[in-house]
Amino acid sequence: MHYSKMFLPTLKESPADAEVISHKLMVRAGMVRQVASGIYSILPLGLRVLKKVEQIIREEMNRIAGQEVYLPSIQPAELWQESGRWDFYGKELLRIQDRHNRQFCYGPTHEEIITDIVRKEVKSYRQLPLLMYQIQTKFRDEVRPRYGIMRGREFMMKDAYSFHADDADAQKTYKNVAGAYTNIFQRCGLEFKMVEADSGNIGGNFSHEFAVLADSGEDHIGFCDSCDYASNLELAEAKAPSPPAATPSQLDELIEVVTPGKKSVKDVSEFLSIQPRQIVKTILFESDQGLIAALVRGDHEINPIKLKNLVGAEWMHPAAEKIIAEQAAVPCGFVGPVGLKMKIVADREVEVLHNFVTGANKMDTHFTGVQMGRDFKTEKIADIRQVIEGEPCPRCASGTYKVKRGIEVGHIFILGTKYSKAMNAVFLDHNGKENQIVMGCYGVGVGRTAAAAIEQNHDDNGIIWPVAISPFAVHIIPTNYSVDAIKNACDSAYKALLDQNLEVLLDDRPDRLGVKLKDADLLGIPLQMIIGPKNLEAGKVEIKIRKTSESELYEFPEVLEKIPEILKSLSS
Ligand code: ATP
Ligand code: MG
Repeated sequence: MHYSKMFLPTLKESPADAEVISHKLMVRAGMVRQVASGIYSILPLGLRVLKKVEQIIREEMNRIAGQEVYLPSIQPAELWQESGRWDFYGKELLRIQDRHNRQFCYGPTHEEIITDIVRKEVKSYRQLPLLMYQIQTKFRDEVRPRYGIMRGREFMMKDAYSFHADDADAQKTYKNVAGAYTNIFQRCGLEFKMVEADSGNIGGNFSHEFAVLADSGEDHIGFCDSCDYASNLELAEAKAPSPPAATPSQLDELIEVVTPGKKSVKDVSEFLSIQPRQIVKTILFESDQGLIAALVRGDHEINPIKLKNLVGAEWMHPAAEKIIAEQAAVPCGFVGPVGLKMKIVADREVEVLHNFVTGANKMDTHFTGVQMGRDFKTEKIADIRQVIEGEPCPRCASGTYKVKRGIEVGHIFILGTKYSKAMNAVFLDHNGKENQIVMGCYGVGVGRTAAAAIEQNHDDNGIIWPVAISPFAVHIIPTNYSVDAIKNACDSAYKALLDQNLEVLLDDRPDRLGVKLKDADLLGIPLQMIIGPKNLEAGKVEIKIRKTSESELYEFPEVLEKIPEILKSLSS
């Protein structure tokens, strides 16, 4: 491609609303333009990258016998009503009406459509398993579209769905997809972790996210510095506390103490001259199961997702002050488990404490000498706290937690019979008995993967594309394209590289060399071939590696044969 012919509107300045580097650089490098909030046009340079990502995804999905389909974006409301999601999905679902006043939605995901197809066509276990995928535009009316195409409203997703006779078979495919995703993100040149993820109300450990480690990530990932345990922090397990130390021979009595205005753990611990870990916090949550009190040690925090999963709630959030005052009739800041009339669940660390301090459910008052079991009863004792960096790994003996931010680029899920049950997708097993089909679903964000690659691979001057998803492999930069000898060398290099099936961008613009070099660094193509008069006279050209900024002179034209090798060395 000749630069002068390409629609490549680069910018010196980043757009004012761009918060993260990938958004800034994608706009500056002329890859994308925003049309409306969270809705983007993908320009030629951007599309080259997305197509590379798509192709890698296709190859890896095909390798595990995935079959590509193309399902409609516009989906009838009836299917969503059948699955129960028409009401449940809320405002993220873009609902539309046709001229006959029939309700439709623009698909945010495709479980309903594909389950409908399979239930009509699949009758027997002989037709299972099936793994189908598509690469297609989704629309989700996100509350906060941001970060460019990383969290858009309209975005490109590879979504896949699998259908099985039983759980064991679903798990086989799940493992295969996990392997394919590992290959995809490795091939895209990303540093990522496959982490255990929240499977919401479905339960079980059947969901993993693929998280690209980057400071701009919206998720927090907890992982062991020694073994391969990694989890979304929402779910990360705490190591079980060592068995209760021998109960002190004499337990303190429950004593009410006056703690005027001392509400926070810090204030109470200072006032009573004790450690925060000798205090037990009581946090109240509203949920579809009513009010729930959760107890954690003063120096720990509740993990609301673990709590929600533990009690099996559909929804849950911290109770508002008003609710606490009205429904629990206790003063905020002085809430405690003793005499509290609601479901109480405690973190495991609370179980091994003795003689601790809690609120006394009375203004300006706390209890000291509190004992679990003696002074209050709990419905459940479990791991409901947030883990933090530096604490011991729950899986191995020697490791400790590290916490980093991550961008979720892929998500895999065993759905079980959630949709086949709601939509009556059944098959006859080898005994002729009717069963519900077991399903899995698997997504990769195409645009988000490309954006995540920029988050991990850039410097002050611009993008540094991993070779496999770079829009071009080689960027030829003449010092002056109007000089015949230079032009001839550039043109012959261009042709020779194309003949080797390499993608080449030739900067044939009349601009100054400085401008061209700046643009080249911004665009981030892995190899720059700089062709100038002096070097050329000596039979040489300069090759600059974008990633390291290292320049080396090579014999010209002999170097042209070596380019694939140099590119290969960059991608390993
Ligand atoms: P998130 O928690 O980030 O909203 P999600 O859990 O809703 O993601 P899935 O429904 O699992 O996402 O979708 C599969 C993949 O699609 C995600 O892993 C991500 O790569 C991509 N994706 C999801 N939402 C968006 C979005 N708004 N913009 C771009 N890509 C997205
Ligand atoms: Mg989402």
